[in-house]
Amino acid sequence: MKKTRWIALFLTLSALSLWVSARPVGSQFQPAADLIIRNAKIWTVDKTRPTAEAVAVLGERIAAVGSNDEIEAWHGAHTRVIEAEGKLLLPGFNDSHVHFVDGGLALDSVQLNDATSAEEFARRIAERAARTPRGEWLTGGDWDETKWNPANMPTKDLIDPTTPTTPVFVSRYDGHMALANSVTLRLAGITAKTPDPPGGVVVRDAQGNPTGALKDAAMDYVYNIAPSLSHERRLRAVQRSLAHAASLGVTSVQHMNPDYADIAVYRELLQRGELTARIYAAPLIPSVDDQVKLGIGHAFGGPFLRIGALKAYADGSLGSATAYFFDPYSNQPGSHGLLSDEMHPISLMQDRMMKADAAGLQICTHAIGDQGISIILDLYREIVKAHGEADRRFRIEHAQHMAAKDFDRFAQLHVIASVQPYHAIDDGRWAEQRIGHDRASRTYPFRTFLNHGVRLAFGTDWNVAPLNPMLTLYAAVTRATLDGKNPNGWFPEQKLTLAEAIEAYTMGSAYAEFQETEKGSITPGKLADMVLISDDLFAIDLAKIRDAKVLTTIVGGKTVWDTAKTDSR
Ligand SMILES: [Zn+2]
Repeated sequence: MKKTRWIALFLTLSALSLWVSARPVGSQFQPAADLIIRNAKIWTVDKTRPTAEAVAVLGERIAAVGSNDEIEAWHGAHTRVIEAEGKLLLPGFNDSHVHFVDGGLALDSVQLNDATSAEEFARRIAERAARTPRGEWLTGGDWDETKWNPANMPTKDLIDPTTPTTPVFVSRYDGHMALANSVTLRLAGITAKTPDPPGGVVVRDAQGNPTGALKDAAMDYVYNIAPSLSHERRLRAVQRSLAHAASLGVTSVQHMNPDYADIAVYRELLQRGELTARIYAAPLIPSVDDQVKLGIGHAFGGPFLRIGALKAYADGSLGSATAYFFDPYSNQPGSHGLLSDEMHPISLMQDRMMKADAAGLQICTHAIGDQGISIILDLYREIVKAHGEADRRFRIEHAQHMAAKDFDRFAQLHVIASVQPYHAIDDGRWAEQRIGHDRASRTYPFRTFLNHGVRLAFGTDWNVAPLNPMLTLYAAVTRATLDGKNPNGWFPEQKLTLAEAIEAYTMGSAYAEFQETEKGSITPGKLADMVLISDDLFAIDLAKIRDAKVLTTIVGGKTVWDTAKTDSR
Protein backbone atom coordinates (compact mmCIF):
# COMPACT_ATOMS: atom_id res chain seq x y z
CA MET A 1 0.00 0.00 0.00
CA LYS A 2 1.23 3.48 -0.81
CA LYS A 3 1.94 5.90 2.01
CA THR A 4 -0.81 8.31 0.90
CA ARG A 5 -3.36 5.55 1.26
CA TRP A 6 -2.15 4.85 4.79
CA ILE A 7 -2.63 8.48 5.67
CA ALA A 8 -6.13 8.45 4.15
CA LEU A 9 -6.97 5.31 6.12
CA PHE A 10 -5.62 6.87 9.30
CA LEU A 11 -7.73 9.98 8.79
CA THR A 12 -10.86 7.93 8.10
CA LEU A 13 -10.43 5.84 11.23
CA SER A 14 -9.62 8.87 13.41
CA ALA A 15 -12.65 10.73 12.08
CA LEU A 16 -14.84 7.70 12.80
CA SER A 17 -13.60 7.38 16.38
CA LEU A 18 -13.97 11.13 16.99
CA TRP A 19 -17.52 10.98 15.69
CA VAL A 20 -18.30 8.01 17.91
CA SER A 21 -16.75 9.48 21.07
CA ALA A 22 -18.35 12.89 20.47
CA ARG A 23 -21.90 11.51 20.63
CA PRO A 24 -23.76 12.74 23.69
CA VAL A 25 -24.23 10.28 26.53
CA GLY A 26 -27.84 9.21 26.79
CA SER A 27 -28.75 10.72 23.42
CA GLN A 28 -32.05 9.36 22.20
CA PHE A 29 -30.38 8.63 18.84
CA GLN A 30 -27.75 6.50 20.46
CA PRO A 31 -28.40 2.85 19.55
CA ALA A 32 -27.84 0.37 22.36
CA ALA A 33 -24.90 -1.97 21.97
CA ASP A 34 -25.51 -5.71 21.59
CA LEU A 35 -22.42 -6.37 23.65
CA ILE A 36 -20.24 -4.37 26.00
CA ILE A 37 -16.95 -5.58 27.43
CA ARG A 38 -15.90 -3.41 30.36
CA ASN A 39 -13.24 -3.18 33.05
CA ALA A 40 -10.77 -4.68 30.59
CA LYS A 41 -7.15 -3.87 30.01
CA ILE A 42 -7.45 -3.43 26.24
CA TRP A 43 -4.40 -3.48 24.01
CA THR A 44 -6.00 -2.32 20.75
CA VAL A 45 -3.08 -2.67 18.25
CA ASP A 46 -4.45 0.66 16.96
CA LYS A 47 -1.77 3.34 17.16
CA THR A 48 -4.36 6.13 17.37
CA ARG A 49 -5.54 4.72 20.73
CA PRO A 50 -3.24 1.96 21.98
CA THR A 51 -5.09 1.25 25.23
CA ALA A 52 -8.66 1.42 26.50
CA GLU A 53 -10.98 0.04 29.21
CA ALA A 54 -14.15 -0.88 27.38
CA VAL A 55 -15.59 -1.67 23.99
CA ALA A 56 -19.13 -1.59 22.56
CA VAL A 57 -20.24 -3.96 19.81
CA LEU A 58 -23.17 -3.39 17.48
CA GLY A 59 -24.07 -6.44 15.38
CA GLU A 60 -20.84 -7.97 14.11
CA ARG A 61 -18.76 -4.79 14.38
CA ILE A 62 -17.03 -2.66 16.97
CA ALA A 63 -19.04 0.50 17.57
CA ALA A 64 -16.90 2.29 20.14
CA VAL A 65 -13.70 1.93 22.14
CA GLY A 66 -12.96 4.02 25.20
CA SER A 67 -13.14 4.41 28.97
CA ASN A 68 -15.75 2.57 31.05
CA ASP A 69 -17.70 5.82 31.36
CA GLU A 70 -17.67 6.54 27.63
CA ILE A 71 -18.83 3.07 26.74
CA GLU A 72 -21.58 3.05 29.39
CA ALA A 73 -23.47 5.38 27.02
CA TRP A 74 -24.00 2.36 24.79
CA HIS A 75 -25.57 0.28 27.57
CA GLY A 76 -29.21 -0.52 26.81
CA ALA A 77 -31.82 -2.82 28.31
CA HIS A 78 -30.79 -5.76 26.15
CA THR A 79 -27.06 -5.22 26.07
CA ARG A 80 -25.03 -8.29 26.97
CA VAL A 81 -22.15 -7.34 29.29
CA ILE A 82 -18.85 -9.11 29.79
CA GLU A 83 -17.10 -8.04 33.00
CA ALA A 84 -13.43 -8.45 32.19
CA GLU A 85 -12.25 -7.91 35.77
CA GLY A 86 -9.07 -6.18 34.63
CA LYS A 87 -8.07 -8.97 32.26
CA LEU A 88 -6.20 -8.33 29.01
CA LEU A 89 -8.34 -7.99 25.86
CA LEU A 90 -6.62 -8.32 22.48
CA PRO A 91 -7.78 -8.44 18.87
CA GLY A 92 -8.43 -12.05 17.83
CA PHE A 93 -5.35 -13.90 16.57
CA ASN A 94 -5.07 -14.33 12.81
CA ASP A 95 -2.94 -17.35 11.93
CA SER A 96 -1.45 -16.57 8.52
CA HIS A 97 -0.44 -20.14 7.69
CA VAL A 98 -2.38 -23.24 8.69
CA HIS A 99 -3.30 -26.60 7.24
CA PHE A 100 -6.74 -26.60 8.75
CA VAL A 101 -8.11 -29.90 7.48
CA ASP A 102 -4.87 -31.78 8.10
CA GLY A 103 -4.99 -30.32 11.60
CA GLY A 104 -8.53 -31.55 12.18
CA LEU A 105 -7.64 -34.99 10.85
CA ALA A 106 -4.59 -35.08 13.11
CA LEU A 107 -6.74 -34.34 16.15
CA ASP A 108 -8.47 -37.61 15.22
CA SER A 109 -5.49 -39.77 14.32
CA VAL A 110 -2.58 -41.63 15.95
CA GLN A 111 -0.28 -39.25 17.86
CA LEU A 112 3.41 -39.90 17.18
CA ASN A 113 4.93 -36.46 17.67
CA ASP A 114 5.75 -36.89 21.36
CA ALA A 115 7.00 -40.48 21.03
CA THR A 116 10.45 -40.42 22.61
CA SER A 117 11.88 -43.54 20.98
CA ALA A 118 11.55 -45.70 17.87
CA GLU A 119 10.05 -48.43 20.09
CA GLU A 120 7.33 -46.08 21.36
CA PHE A 121 6.66 -44.98 17.75
CA ALA A 122 6.22 -48.63 16.74
CA ARG A 123 4.09 -49.46 19.79
CA ARG A 124 1.60 -46.66 19.12
CA ILE A 125 1.21 -47.69 15.47
CA ALA A 126 0.66 -51.31 16.50
CA GLU A 127 -1.95 -50.28 19.05
CA ARG A 128 -3.84 -48.12 16.53
CA ALA A 129 -3.63 -50.75 13.77
CA ALA A 130 -5.21 -53.30 16.12
CA ARG A 131 -8.38 -51.18 16.36
CA THR A 132 -8.44 -49.82 12.78
CA PRO A 133 -11.27 -51.31 10.68
CA ARG A 134 -10.07 -53.58 7.86
CA GLY A 135 -9.31 -51.62 4.71
CA GLU A 136 -9.01 -48.23 6.44
CA TRP A 137 -5.68 -46.46 6.17
CA LEU A 138 -3.57 -45.50 9.15
CA THR A 139 -2.29 -41.98 8.47
CA GLY A 140 -1.27 -38.78 10.24
CA GLY A 141 1.24 -39.14 13.06
CA ASP A 142 3.62 -36.17 12.80
CA TRP A 143 6.58 -38.22 14.00
CA ASP A 144 9.83 -36.49 14.84
CA GLU A 145 12.86 -38.75 15.01
CA THR A 146 15.02 -35.91 16.41
CA LYS A 147 13.36 -36.68 19.76
CA TRP A 148 14.73 -40.24 19.72
CA ASN A 149 18.11 -41.56 20.78
CA PRO A 150 19.65 -42.50 18.41
CA ALA A 151 17.80 -40.14 16.04
CA ASN A 152 17.60 -42.62 13.15
CA MET A 153 15.00 -42.26 10.40
CA PRO A 154 12.32 -44.93 10.97
CA THR A 155 11.97 -47.80 8.48
CA LYS A 156 9.11 -50.13 7.60
CA ASP A 157 10.81 -52.95 9.53
CA LEU A 158 9.70 -51.23 12.75
CA ILE A 159 6.01 -51.50 11.88
CA ASP A 160 5.61 -54.33 9.35
CA PRO A 161 5.24 -57.12 11.96
CA THR A 162 2.20 -55.47 13.60
CA THR A 163 0.53 -54.13 10.43
CA PRO A 164 0.27 -57.15 8.10
CA THR A 165 -3.01 -55.99 6.50
CA THR A 166 -3.34 -52.28 7.38
CA PRO A 167 -1.98 -49.74 4.87
CA VAL A 168 0.21 -47.35 6.90
CA PHE A 169 1.45 -43.99 5.66
CA VAL A 170 2.50 -41.83 8.61
CA SER A 171 3.92 -38.35 8.06
CA ARG A 172 6.92 -36.64 9.54
CA TYR A 173 5.81 -33.55 11.48
CA ASP A 174 7.11 -31.16 8.79
CA GLY A 175 5.08 -32.84 6.05
CA HIS A 176 8.14 -33.36 3.84
CA MET A 177 8.59 -37.05 4.52
CA ALA A 178 6.37 -40.01 5.32
CA LEU A 179 6.88 -43.67 6.21
CA ALA A 180 5.01 -46.42 4.38
CA ASN A 181 4.79 -50.03 5.53
CA SER A 182 5.12 -52.95 3.12
CA VAL A 183 1.34 -53.10 2.49
CA THR A 184 1.38 -49.50 1.28
CA LEU A 185 4.56 -49.91 -0.78
CA ARG A 186 2.91 -52.89 -2.51
CA LEU A 187 -0.32 -50.95 -3.19
CA ALA A 188 1.73 -48.06 -4.64
CA GLY A 189 3.93 -50.41 -6.67
CA ILE A 190 7.14 -49.05 -5.12
CA THR A 191 10.10 -51.44 -5.49
CA ALA A 192 13.90 -51.27 -5.77
CA LYS A 193 13.36 -50.42 -9.46
CA THR A 194 11.17 -47.35 -8.79
CA PRO A 195 13.07 -44.20 -9.80
CA ASP A 196 13.32 -41.06 -7.66
CA PRO A 197 10.85 -38.55 -9.14
CA PRO A 198 11.96 -34.93 -9.78
CA GLY A 199 11.87 -33.16 -6.41
CA GLY A 200 11.62 -36.37 -4.43
CA VAL A 201 13.58 -39.27 -2.97
CA VAL A 202 12.70 -42.93 -2.34
CA VAL A 203 14.96 -43.65 0.65
CA ARG A 204 16.83 -46.95 0.14
CA ASP A 205 18.93 -49.34 2.22
CA ALA A 206 22.46 -50.50 1.35
CA GLN A 207 21.00 -53.09 -1.08
CA GLY A 208 18.92 -50.42 -2.87
CA ASN A 209 15.58 -51.61 -1.45
CA PRO A 210 13.06 -48.99 -0.33
CA THR A 211 13.10 -48.49 3.48
CA GLY A 212 9.53 -47.18 3.39
CA ALA A 213 10.57 -43.53 3.89
CA LEU A 214 9.55 -41.23 1.01
CA LYS A 215 10.64 -37.62 0.70
CA ASP A 216 8.69 -34.74 -0.87
CA ALA A 217 7.50 -35.55 -4.41
CA ALA A 218 8.14 -39.28 -3.84
CA MET A 219 5.21 -39.22 -1.40
CA ASP A 220 2.95 -38.66 -4.44
CA TYR A 221 3.50 -42.32 -5.40
CA VAL A 222 1.33 -43.10 -2.38
CA TYR A 223 -0.99 -40.07 -2.43
CA ASN A 224 -1.87 -40.91 -6.05
CA ILE A 225 -3.31 -44.28 -5.03
CA ALA A 226 -4.59 -43.47 -1.53
CA PRO A 227 -8.39 -43.30 -1.18
CA SER A 228 -9.60 -39.68 -1.09
CA LEU A 229 -11.27 -38.22 1.97
CA SER A 230 -15.00 -38.64 2.23
CA HIS A 231 -17.12 -35.49 2.63
CA GLU A 232 -18.16 -36.69 6.07
CA ARG A 233 -14.58 -37.09 7.34
CA ARG A 234 -13.61 -33.73 5.88
CA LEU A 235 -16.55 -31.98 7.52
CA ARG A 236 -15.76 -33.60 10.86
CA ALA A 237 -12.13 -32.55 10.55
CA VAL A 238 -13.10 -28.90 9.95
CA GLN A 239 -15.48 -28.96 12.91
CA ARG A 240 -12.68 -30.30 15.13
CA SER A 241 -10.37 -27.57 13.84
CA LEU A 242 -12.91 -24.79 14.38
CA ALA A 243 -13.50 -25.86 17.97
CA HIS A 244 -9.75 -26.07 18.57
CA ALA A 245 -9.18 -22.60 17.06
CA ALA A 246 -11.97 -21.05 19.13
CA SER A 247 -10.52 -22.51 22.34
CA LEU A 248 -7.17 -20.87 21.55
CA GLY A 249 -8.41 -17.42 20.51
CA VAL A 250 -7.68 -17.91 16.81
CA THR A 251 -10.42 -15.97 15.04
CA SER A 252 -9.00 -15.97 11.50
CA VAL A 253 -6.96 -18.56 9.64
CA GLN A 254 -5.26 -18.54 6.28
CA HIS A 255 -5.53 -22.06 4.95
CA MET A 256 -2.58 -23.03 2.78
CA ASN A 257 -2.97 -25.87 0.25
CA PRO A 258 -6.71 -26.57 0.71
CA ASP A 259 -8.39 -29.02 -1.62
CA TYR A 260 -11.31 -27.41 -3.42
CA ALA A 261 -13.48 -29.86 -1.49
CA ASP A 262 -12.29 -28.18 1.73
CA ILE A 263 -13.60 -24.85 0.46
CA ALA A 264 -16.93 -26.53 -0.29
CA VAL A 265 -17.06 -27.67 3.35
CA TYR A 266 -16.38 -24.11 4.53
CA ARG A 267 -19.21 -22.83 2.34
CA GLU A 268 -21.55 -25.44 3.76
CA LEU A 269 -20.67 -24.50 7.34
CA LEU A 270 -20.93 -20.80 6.49
CA GLN A 271 -24.47 -21.31 5.21
CA ARG A 272 -25.34 -23.23 8.37
CA GLY A 273 -23.95 -20.35 10.44
CA GLU A 274 -21.33 -22.66 11.96
CA LEU A 275 -18.13 -21.09 10.66
CA THR A 276 -16.59 -19.70 13.86
CA ALA A 277 -13.27 -18.60 12.35
CA ARG A 278 -12.72 -16.46 9.25
CA ILE A 279 -11.00 -18.32 6.43
CA TYR A 280 -8.75 -17.18 3.58
CA ALA A 281 -7.98 -20.16 1.37
CA ALA A 282 -4.91 -20.47 -0.87
CA PRO A 283 -5.06 -23.58 -3.11
CA LEU A 284 -1.89 -24.85 -4.79
CA ILE A 285 -0.59 -22.93 -7.80
CA PRO A 286 -0.75 -25.84 -10.29
CA SER A 287 -4.52 -25.15 -10.20
CA VAL A 288 -3.97 -21.50 -11.22
CA ASP A 289 -6.15 -21.84 -14.33
CA ASP A 290 -9.22 -22.62 -12.22
CA GLN A 291 -9.08 -19.31 -10.40
CA VAL A 292 -7.95 -17.35 -13.47
CA LYS A 293 -11.09 -18.59 -15.24
CA LEU A 294 -13.26 -17.20 -12.45
CA GLY A 295 -11.63 -13.77 -12.74
CA ILE A 296 -11.96 -13.12 -9.02
CA GLY A 297 -8.64 -11.57 -7.91
CA HIS A 298 -7.15 -11.55 -4.42
CA ALA A 299 -9.24 -11.71 -1.23
CA PHE A 300 -12.52 -12.30 -3.08
CA GLY A 301 -15.49 -13.24 -0.90
CA GLY A 302 -17.09 -12.15 2.35
CA PRO A 303 -16.01 -11.60 5.96
CA PHE A 304 -16.03 -15.32 6.77
CA LEU A 305 -14.70 -16.90 3.60
CA ARG A 306 -12.34 -15.54 0.97
CA ILE A 307 -10.31 -17.01 -1.88
CA GLY A 308 -8.02 -15.48 -4.49
CA ALA A 309 -4.58 -16.54 -3.27
CA LEU A 310 -2.33 -19.30 -4.55
CA LYS A 311 0.24 -21.30 -2.62
CA ALA A 312 3.45 -22.32 -4.38
CA TYR A 313 6.44 -24.43 -3.27
CA ALA A 314 10.03 -23.44 -3.97
CA ASP A 315 11.77 -26.12 -1.91
CA GLY A 316 11.49 -28.54 1.03
CA SER A 317 12.32 -28.23 4.73
CA LEU A 318 15.43 -28.01 6.90
CA GLY A 319 14.37 -31.03 8.96
CA SER A 320 14.17 -33.24 5.89
CA ALA A 321 17.39 -31.67 4.50
CA THR A 322 15.43 -30.61 1.41
CA ALA A 323 15.47 -26.80 1.94
CA TYR A 324 17.50 -25.42 -0.99
CA PHE A 325 20.74 -23.58 -0.08
CA PHE A 326 23.50 -21.79 -2.00
CA ASP A 327 26.12 -23.70 0.01
CA PRO A 328 25.86 -27.40 0.84
CA TYR A 329 24.53 -28.66 4.17
CA SER A 330 27.27 -28.55 6.80
CA ASN A 331 26.61 -32.18 7.74
CA GLN A 332 25.99 -33.40 4.14
CA PRO A 333 28.69 -31.79 1.99
CA GLY A 334 27.23 -33.26 -1.22
CA SER A 335 23.74 -31.81 -0.77
CA HIS A 336 22.26 -28.36 -1.35
CA GLY A 337 18.71 -29.63 -0.75
CA LEU A 338 16.01 -29.88 -3.41
CA LEU A 339 13.89 -27.52 -5.44
CA SER A 340 10.27 -28.67 -5.44
CA ASP A 341 8.67 -30.47 -8.36
CA GLU A 342 6.83 -27.19 -9.19
CA MET A 343 10.28 -25.69 -9.93
CA HIS A 344 11.26 -28.30 -12.54
CA PRO A 345 11.80 -26.33 -14.68
CA ILE A 346 11.80 -22.89 -13.02
CA SER A 347 10.15 -21.47 -16.16
CA LEU A 348 7.07 -23.58 -15.31
CA MET A 349 6.77 -21.76 -11.98
CA GLN A 350 7.41 -18.43 -13.68
CA ASP A 351 4.63 -19.01 -16.21
CA ARG A 352 2.16 -19.91 -13.48
CA MET A 353 3.09 -16.91 -11.36
CA MET A 354 2.79 -14.55 -14.34
CA LYS A 355 -0.68 -15.93 -15.07
CA ALA A 356 -1.71 -15.59 -11.45
CA ASP A 357 -0.47 -12.02 -11.20
CA ALA A 358 -2.07 -10.97 -14.47
CA ALA A 359 -5.38 -12.17 -12.99
CA GLY A 360 -4.87 -10.19 -9.78
CA LEU A 361 -4.38 -13.28 -7.61
CA GLN A 362 -2.09 -13.18 -4.60
CA ILE A 363 1.00 -15.41 -4.57
CA CYS A 364 2.19 -17.10 -1.36
CA THR A 365 5.36 -19.12 -1.93
CA HIS A 366 6.85 -21.60 0.50
CA ALA A 367 10.62 -20.95 0.48
CA ILE A 368 12.96 -22.03 3.30
CA GLY A 369 16.58 -22.35 2.11
CA ASP A 370 18.47 -19.15 1.20
CA GLN A 371 18.74 -20.06 -2.48
CA GLY A 372 15.10 -21.15 -2.63
CA ILE A 373 14.10 -17.72 -1.26
CA SER A 374 16.50 -15.93 -3.61
CA ILE A 375 15.08 -17.62 -6.71
CA ILE A 376 11.54 -16.68 -5.68
CA LEU A 377 12.59 -13.05 -5.19
CA ASP A 378 14.03 -13.20 -8.73
CA LEU A 379 10.68 -14.45 -10.02
CA TYR A 380 8.76 -11.78 -8.09
CA ARG A 381 11.05 -9.09 -9.54
CA GLU A 382 10.35 -10.41 -13.06
CA ILE A 383 6.61 -10.10 -12.42
CA VAL A 384 6.96 -6.47 -11.32
CA LYS A 385 9.09 -5.78 -14.39
CA ALA A 386 6.56 -7.36 -16.71
CA HIS A 387 3.32 -6.06 -15.15
CA GLY A 388 4.39 -2.84 -13.39
CA GLU A 389 4.07 -1.71 -9.76
CA ALA A 390 0.84 -2.67 -7.98
CA ASP A 391 -0.43 -3.42 -4.47
CA ARG A 392 -0.02 -7.20 -4.90
CA ARG A 393 1.40 -8.20 -1.50
CA PHE A 394 3.68 -11.03 -2.54
CA ARG A 395 4.32 -13.41 0.32
CA ILE A 396 7.11 -15.79 1.17
CA GLU A 397 5.93 -18.47 3.54
CA HIS A 398 8.50 -19.44 6.21
CA ALA A 399 11.32 -17.23 4.79
CA GLN A 400 13.47 -19.25 7.15
CA HIS A 401 17.11 -18.92 6.14
CA MET A 402 17.95 -15.61 4.52
CA ALA A 403 21.01 -14.76 2.44
CA ALA A 404 22.49 -11.51 3.77
CA LYS A 405 22.21 -9.91 0.33
CA ASP A 406 18.46 -10.53 0.06
CA PHE A 407 16.98 -8.47 2.92
CA ASP A 408 17.03 -5.25 0.90
CA ARG A 409 15.42 -6.91 -2.10
CA PHE A 410 12.78 -8.47 0.12
CA ALA A 411 11.83 -4.99 1.33
CA GLN A 412 12.04 -3.28 -2.07
CA LEU A 413 9.65 -5.81 -3.60
CA HIS A 414 7.28 -5.27 -0.61
CA VAL A 415 7.31 -9.00 0.07
CA ILE A 416 5.56 -10.08 3.29
CA ALA A 417 7.48 -12.52 5.49
CA SER A 418 4.83 -15.00 6.64
CA VAL A 419 6.72 -16.64 9.49
CA GLN A 420 6.18 -19.19 12.27
CA PRO A 421 8.17 -18.30 15.41
CA TYR A 422 7.53 -21.69 17.02
CA HIS A 423 9.65 -23.31 14.29
CA ALA A 424 12.57 -21.15 15.46
CA ILE A 425 12.56 -22.57 19.01
CA ASP A 426 11.96 -26.07 17.64
CA ASP A 427 14.51 -26.14 14.78
CA GLY A 428 16.89 -24.06 16.91
CA ARG A 429 17.72 -27.26 18.80
CA TRP A 430 19.64 -28.70 15.85
CA ALA A 431 19.74 -26.15 13.00
CA GLU A 432 23.36 -25.16 13.59
CA GLN A 433 24.60 -28.74 13.12
CA ARG A 434 23.02 -28.74 9.67
CA ILE A 435 23.84 -25.26 8.37
CA GLY A 436 26.56 -23.86 10.67
CA HIS A 437 26.71 -20.71 12.78
CA ASP A 438 26.77 -18.08 10.03
CA ARG A 439 23.66 -19.24 8.23
CA ALA A 440 21.92 -19.94 11.54
CA SER A 441 22.43 -16.27 12.47
CA ARG A 442 20.03 -15.36 9.65
CA THR A 443 17.46 -18.02 10.58
CA TYR A 444 14.02 -16.64 11.36
CA PRO A 445 15.61 -13.18 11.47
CA PHE A 446 12.54 -11.31 12.69
CA ARG A 447 14.42 -8.26 13.99
CA THR A 448 16.48 -7.93 10.80
CA PHE A 449 13.30 -8.12 8.73
CA LEU A 450 11.71 -5.29 10.75
CA ASN A 451 14.90 -3.22 10.55
CA HIS A 452 14.72 -3.48 6.77
CA GLY A 453 11.08 -2.43 6.71
CA VAL A 454 9.76 -5.90 5.85
CA ARG A 455 6.25 -6.62 7.11
CA LEU A 456 5.79 -9.72 9.26
CA ALA A 457 2.69 -11.92 9.41
CA PHE A 458 2.64 -14.53 12.18
CA GLY A 459 1.31 -18.04 11.98
CA THR A 460 2.04 -21.56 13.12
CA ASP A 461 1.93 -23.88 10.09
CA TRP A 462 -0.45 -25.97 12.21
CA ASN A 463 -0.47 -28.95 12.29
CA VAL A 464 3.29 -28.83 11.66
CA ALA A 465 3.45 -26.85 14.94
CA PRO A 466 0.84 -26.26 17.67
CA LEU A 467 -1.96 -23.79 16.86
CA ASN A 468 -1.72 -22.14 20.31
CA PRO A 469 -0.87 -18.42 19.83
CA MET A 470 0.66 -18.23 23.32
CA LEU A 471 3.43 -20.59 22.21
CA THR A 472 4.07 -18.45 19.14
CA LEU A 473 4.21 -15.22 21.15
CA TYR A 474 6.46 -16.93 23.69
CA ALA A 475 8.77 -18.11 20.90
CA ALA A 476 8.99 -14.68 19.27
CA VAL A 477 9.83 -12.80 22.48
CA THR A 478 12.15 -15.38 24.11
CA ARG A 479 13.65 -17.46 21.26
CA ALA A 480 14.26 -19.99 24.03
CA THR A 481 14.73 -23.34 22.28
CA LEU A 482 12.52 -26.23 23.37
CA ASP A 483 15.49 -28.18 24.74
CA GLY A 484 16.07 -25.51 27.41
CA LYS A 485 19.62 -24.88 26.18
CA ASN A 486 19.11 -21.20 25.25
CA PRO A 487 17.13 -19.66 28.12
CA ASN A 488 18.21 -16.16 27.06
CA GLY A 489 17.41 -16.77 23.44
CA TRP A 490 18.90 -18.48 20.43
CA PHE A 491 20.37 -15.56 18.46
CA PRO A 492 18.75 -13.25 21.01
CA GLU A 493 19.35 -10.15 18.87
CA GLN A 494 16.44 -11.38 16.72
CA LYS A 495 13.89 -11.31 19.58
CA LEU A 496 10.81 -9.11 19.22
CA THR A 497 8.98 -7.13 21.87
CA LEU A 498 5.59 -8.46 22.93
CA ALA A 499 3.85 -5.51 21.26
CA GLU A 500 5.64 -6.22 17.98
CA ALA A 501 4.76 -9.91 18.20
CA ILE A 502 1.07 -9.21 18.87
CA GLU A 503 0.99 -6.73 16.00
CA ALA A 504 2.47 -9.28 13.58
CA TYR A 505 -0.18 -11.81 14.72
CA THR A 506 -3.11 -9.42 14.24
CA MET A 507 -2.55 -6.41 11.95
CA GLY A 508 0.38 -8.10 10.20
CA SER A 509 -1.64 -11.18 9.30
CA ALA A 510 -4.66 -9.05 8.35
CA TYR A 511 -2.47 -7.00 6.00
CA ALA A 512 -1.12 -10.23 4.50
CA GLU A 513 -4.69 -11.09 3.40
CA PHE A 514 -5.71 -7.55 2.33
CA GLN A 515 -7.99 -7.20 5.38
CA GLU A 516 -6.22 -4.55 7.50
CA THR A 517 -9.19 -2.18 7.23
CA GLU A 518 -11.61 -4.94 8.38
CA LYS A 519 -9.76 -6.60 11.25
CA GLY A 520 -6.46 -6.85 13.13
CA SER A 521 -7.15 -4.16 15.75
CA ILE A 522 -9.83 -3.13 18.23
CA THR A 523 -10.99 -0.10 16.29
CA PRO A 524 -14.47 1.33 15.74
CA GLY A 525 -15.91 0.05 12.46
CA LYS A 526 -13.88 -3.15 12.38
CA LEU A 527 -15.19 -6.68 12.84
CA ALA A 528 -15.65 -7.52 16.52
CA ASP A 529 -13.08 -10.32 16.82
CA MET A 530 -11.50 -10.24 20.29
CA VAL A 531 -9.95 -12.47 22.93
CA LEU A 532 -9.85 -12.18 26.69
CA ILE A 533 -6.65 -13.61 28.20
CA SER A 534 -6.10 -15.22 31.63
CA ASP A 535 -2.97 -13.17 32.38
CA ASP A 536 -1.64 -9.73 31.57
CA LEU A 537 1.00 -10.79 29.06
CA PHE A 538 2.65 -7.38 29.36
CA ALA A 539 3.11 -7.73 33.12
CA ILE A 540 4.13 -11.36 33.61
CA ASP A 541 7.54 -12.96 33.23
CA LEU A 542 8.08 -13.61 29.48
CA ALA A 543 8.71 -17.29 30.19
CA LYS A 544 5.17 -17.58 31.59
CA ILE A 545 3.46 -16.36 28.40
CA ARG A 546 3.29 -19.91 27.09
CA ASP A 547 1.09 -20.93 30.04
CA ALA A 548 -1.48 -18.17 29.53
CA LYS A 549 -4.96 -19.27 28.43
CA VAL A 550 -7.69 -17.72 26.37
CA LEU A 551 -10.79 -17.30 28.56
CA THR A 552 -13.22 -15.94 26.01
CA THR A 553 -13.14 -15.80 22.22
CA ILE A 554 -15.48 -13.45 20.36
CA VAL A 555 -15.96 -13.59 16.59
CA GLY A 556 -18.19 -11.02 14.92
CA GLY A 557 -19.61 -10.06 18.34
CA LYS A 558 -20.56 -13.67 19.17
CA THR A 559 -18.91 -15.66 21.94
CA VAL A 560 -17.54 -18.85 20.36
CA TRP A 561 -15.48 -19.97 23.36
CA ASP A 562 -15.87 -19.19 27.03
CA THR A 563 -14.26 -20.77 30.08
CA ALA A 564 -14.99 -18.10 32.65
CA LYS A 565 -18.45 -17.25 33.83
CA THR A 566 -17.98 -13.61 32.88
CA ASP A 567 -21.38 -13.00 31.31
CA SER A 568 -24.01 -10.96 33.11
CA ARG A 569 -26.77 -8.58 32.14
ZN1 LIG B 1 2.70 -25.10 5.62
